[in-house]
Amino acid sequence: MADAPEYDISKIRNLGIIAHIDAGKTTTTEHLLYYAGSKHKLGTVDDGNTETDYDTEEQNRGITIYSSCVPLKWQDCTINLIDTPGHVDFTAEVERSLRVLDGCCVVFDAQKGVEAQSETVWRQANKYNVPRMVFINKMDVVGANYANVLEDVKDRLKGKPLSLVIPIGAGSSKDSTTPFVGIIDLLAMKALYFDPQDKGRTIRTEEIPADCLAEAWDYRAKLLDAVTLVDDTLSDAALMEAEEQTVHITAETIRPIIRQLTLSREIQPVLCGSGREHVGIQPLLDAVCWYLPSPLDRPPVTGTHPTKQDKVEKRKSDISEPFSGLVFKVIAGDHGDLFYIRIYSGKLKMNSRVTNAGKEKKEVIGKLFHVHADPKAERDELTEALAGDIIATMGLKDSVTGDTLCDTQHPILLEPITFAEAVVSQSVEPMSSADKDKLLEVVARLMREDPTFIVKNNPETGQLLMSGMGTLHLEVKRNKMERDFRLKVRVGKPLVSYRETLRSPIRVTGECIRAMPQNMFARLVVEFTNERTEPPIQVRSRIKPGILPDQFVAAAERGLKGALQSGRLGYPLLNVQALIIGGEMTQEASSEVAFEAAASDAVQRALSETNLLLLEPILRVDVNAPVEALGAVQTDLIKRGASIENTEYNDKIAIIQAFSPLAKMFNYADELRSLTQGRAAATLTPSHYDAAPDSVLRLMLDPDGV
Ligand code: GDP
Repeated sequence: MADAPEYDISKIRNLGIIAHIDAGKTTTTEHLLYYAGSKHKLGTVDDGNTETDYDTEEQNRGITIYSSCVPLKWQDCTINLIDTPGHVDFTAEVERSLRVLDGCCVVFDAQKGVEAQSETVWRQANKYNVPRMVFINKMDVVGANYANVLEDVKDRLKGKPLSLVIPIGAGSSKDSTTPFVGIIDLLAMKALYFDPQDKGRTIRTEEIPADCLAEAWDYRAKLLDAVTLVDDTLSDAALMEAEEQTVHITAETIRPIIRQLTLSREIQPVLCGSGREHVGIQPLLDAVCWYLPSPLDRPPVTGTHPTKQDKVEKRKSDISEPFSGLVFKVIAGDHGDLFYIRIYSGKLKMNSRVTNAGKEKKEVIGKLFHVHADPKAERDELTEALAGDIIATMGLKDSVTGDTLCDTQHPILLEPITFAEAVVSQSVEPMSSADKDKLLEVVARLMREDPTFIVKNNPETGQLLMSGMGTLHLEVKRNKMERDFRLKVRVGKPLVSYRETLRSPIRVTGECIRAMPQNMFARLVVEFTNERTEPPIQVRSRIKPGILPDQFVAAAERGLKGALQSGRLGYPLLNVQALIIGGEMTQEASSEVAFEAAASDAVQRALSETNLLLLEPILRVDVNAPVEALGAVQTDLIKRGASIENTEYNDKIAIIQAFSPLAKMFNYADELRSLTQGRAAATLTPSHYDAAPDSVLRLMLDPDGV
């Protein structure tokens, strides 16, 4: 069993690699693992034997779905590599990873530049203030263009890319007279070549080829501009460099400044290469160690006291602070679930007791492991794990993804991870009725792993209804049931997960007046509004003191919260605020139960048939289509009720951005393919909710009506 090593938090890098699907994230990750020596064989996505894509489903599809975490050593750092998915149906996984990583590397395809999903992820990384760098991959493909990607990052992402390396050539020897053969390190002003014989392990350093010199000095000048803005004592040396075209400022001088600029998110260092050709990966690893943050560089984590919610608690990334950590992933297993924890402060010891702050429950920590990508692989056990680290444990009883664990004596509740809501549902039933219990067991397990996957019983039909982020999400779950659990299931047509809200604000009086079986009386005046708020359902009271005792007001609030769980049609409610402004009681007949009932009556009245508004999920649709197919694609989108926001042109490709109701987009990917003979591709991202057509609502309220 490994004891905690000599511990230096400044040497930890919790790194995420994020990218649009197919940009080469898995290939790049494989190379990082290969060079860092944590695996000997280099897997390839095309053969389906990579380490991070451990799930068979991913290997079949060649996409990365689940974030897994692999530690690797480079220089004197431990890089905890957190893999993140590139597919939009799995944004929850990306969000979750962003909460626990300290820095990330965004991989772009050198030919395709910034794609829809990278835009989404970039925005998510902004939300969590994550410092990042850029790796422009696939420099060897036809049409690879380094400078275009830089422009794209500036224009579309409003990023501040700063090149630390540039490519030598672009494309392959088949299609280019100056193919991509290596990179220029702008800090050392040297050319680097990677030996294909040993998959790029051996790096040859040479002088910069004469035909690349001018460009290299141009890029070096931009780099020094950024550096001298921070340290103007280097300005003279920078001027001399420009005049003489010889290096005066060493890489060792420049590096800490680049680090500072990266951590303050003023720049994103840019590197480039080709995963497939094994070029440029070691400099990427170096850059992670040199420029990306350690847990110490991140602001202290904040939360609240679990029982005194207005008391803000902070924990520094320091082993002398009380323990705090976040469960950010659960992998269900035959012999118990594996819980991934990011430790923010203090130490977590084997066989210790901690508190689950949100649930006010004690948990016993049994064994601790360093994690590998494959949960079935052998694990290194640890006696203790320390602030800044990411580790796994087993045997937690009450914890799920998003829960805070903390020192029993020093409780803190970290902000829970929020997940986008499910937009699609589908009925699911076993092929054989003998498998009913097995299905319940399997879905329970899948739900523990993935908070965006929800299965509920539909009381009207008796069927199980599974809901998720998109049809692909549900398809993956279905395949998992069939393949991993050998459970044959039948699924229904995908259905839209609607939401309900109020058409207009309304003031209502809710009552509970009963004579039988006992006298009950409560009356409440409640104002309901329909603003967009976070959280989407809010209950407050502004009732004059002395009118109702506190316990009745609390009961009324409880009753409102309970009744606002779902609307008239059984869908979740969205954007509803309830404010109690008045009430009446009698000494003889009023009780907490009566006020709960009056609250529920108020909700029923507010959501009357005439004041009910049905909301449907709207998707953001990004289509890349050849210009010849533009007309057909646009006509088809309009037929589906989409609003086209923008059409841009990039060479012979039209990039269409639209918003469309999810209800009309279920088979869009397939139908678009046949419409354009496979030449167009679309990305669909859940965007927001908007009013559904009244005809849909009428049909739901009165299915038999005309
Ligand atoms: P991910 O979806 O971002 O994880 O991308 P993958 O690593 O799975 O790569 C997608 C496809 O692009 C695979 O067929 C890879 O072999 C290929 N690929 C990845 N990197 C490169 C590269 O640098 N050059 C070329 N030509 N192909 C690459």
